[in-house]
Amino acid sequence: MNTILIDLKNLQEVDDQLKACREAAAAAAARMEEARLGLKGFEDRLTQVKGELDKMRSRHQELEVEVSQLSVKRDNNLKRQGAVKNNNEFTALAKEAEYISGRINDVEDEILELLDRIEKAEAQKADLEIVVTEETAAYGRTASEIESSVKAGNEAQAGLLSARQTLVESLPADKLRQYDELIKIRAGRAVTPAAEGMCQACRLGFPPQLFNELQRNEKINTCPNCSRILYWRDHPDYVRGPHGTTSG
Ligand SMILES: [Zn+2]
Repeated sequence: MNTILIDLKNLQEVDDQLKACREAAAAAAARMEEARLGLKGFEDRLTQVKGELDKMRSRHQELEVEVSQLSVKRDNNLKRQGAVKNNNEFTALAKEAEYISGRINDVEDEILELLDRIEKAEAQKADLEIVVTEETAAYGRTASEIESSVKAGNEAQAGLLSARQTLVESLPADKLRQYDELIKIRAGRAVTPAAEGMCQACRLGFPPQLFNELQRNEKINTCPNCSRILYWRDHPDYVRGPHGTTSG
């Protein structure tokens, strides 16, 4: 059995799992951000509707004040019309009365239209408040779910890092350098199985001499095409247990 090759194979597996852990952590962070933005969207919409309602309510108050001021004017105008002295004055007062009545009608129309909009906005606000409450609860559930998966991921990562450290310490320096170099230039894959007569990373077939050496599993061979470290997948050292926990 070639323990160095087993360690290299295990190191690759540990590094693959660490990569998966980092990817899972990034995906969890993205999912959290997505959930947060989703909730924020509803909160922003509610804030907007509340702001619109405040504006409409204060406009409503202004219009009510204007109607009551116009009513006072109209009453005064009527009184003055009763005490009018000449035609010109009467004509002027009648014109003013006409203007006041027109203005009162316009303002009352605006109030009716505004009340209608206020009613709709209030219904919208009530709906959004329910949605925001529900979404806040859903966000809380998602967040705690993600937090526990992140925690589990961190624990797994810590275990992997310690396993990695053990492997790194047991490997000869030159083999470790070779591994690190291959990781860099071969997209994170330094060790690959050889099976079905070919390198499983680059799919290139082997010359008969290498084929025989690989099956013997005595020395560390590399792929003539991609330079990755090869191990014979179907050798008993690698098929017996998971993570190379072979015995004997
Ligand atoms: Zn190859």
